[in-house]
Amino acid sequence: MDRLLGKIQGDQPGPLVICIAALHGNEQIGIHAFRNVYSSIVQNNIPFRGKFIGILGNIKAIESNRRFIDYDLNRSWDDEHFALISGGEGQGQEDEEQLAISDLIQQESQGVFDLKILADLHSTSSDKGNFIVVPEDEANHPVIKALHLPVVVDLDRYLKGTLLSYYHHQGYVSFAFEGGMIGTEQVYQLHTSGLWEILETAGCISRHDHEHQDHYAKNLALISQQLPKQVKALHRHLVKKGDGFRMLPGFHNFQQIVAGQQLAIDHQGPIHSPMDGMIFMPLYQSEGDDGFFIVKEVGEEVVEHN
Ligand SMILES: [Zn+2]
Repeated sequence: MDRLLGKIQGDQPGPLVICIAALHGNEQIGIHAFRNVYSSIVQNNIPFRGKFIGILGNIKAIESNRRFIDYDLNRSWDDEHFALISGGEGQGQEDEEQLAISDLIQQESQGVFDLKILADLHSTSSDKGNFIVVPEDEANHPVIKALHLPVVVDLDRYLKGTLLSYYHHQGYVSFAFEGGMIGTEQVYQLHTSGLWEILETAGCISRHDHEHQDHYAKNLALISQQLPKQVKALHRHLVKKGDGFRMLPGFHNFQQIVAGQQLAIDHQGPIHSPMDGMIFMPLYQSEGDDGFFIVKEVGEEVVEHN
């Protein structure tokens, strides 16, 4: 598999838009969404400002349709880890993947751009997983607003070493774009429509071309009507190997929960919510360290219970 999914170099200078797909190997629909948008631009000769590229994430994990092989490639983006893997102190199959992705980004970001955007396309193992994860100071950026999806801030308190934080510190407007439940048509539609929105808002394509090409714009608007606008993460249930963690069935993202409500079970017994709020990213797959988060709409009063 070629790491570079496609590259459009416009005639006019402008922004750089990088799209990462399948950083988690089992979340592959973003690949098809990128290809769809990319080939529409090429085949229709759409005038383009700046540069648009698509990069494949964890190729080894894609080939075996797993989230990762040896370690999560979205928790390893920090200087310490780079020092280890560049020094040949390998930690697993993902070393090579991470070095190849960062080399490619480095190479493609040479030059002058009015804005640098990095959209990291993901999908979730639970239902209603449509949201954007951003560093707090980017929450009101026009490109983020244009997506109309719930914006989750402050998750970087819990999730260390994400690709989005790493590139945020290098000057990108950098965010994770969760399109919905793994393998569903909804993810394809939201990612496709979201990429068109990003390209228009960033100034790469005209509004006319966006409207003409984007067949799923209505879905994005409809989905967001029933979801909160901006939430903050207040609690995470960390899962350790051998915990035997299992979510109770039927929870979806942004579902209201109350303090004391049972959410999951592990070898120690039932796990109850420590507070009122909304459940977020409940884990319904066997791989991953985050059992669930509890979030609150920003602006709401926070009451902690024991
Ligand atoms: Zn993911």
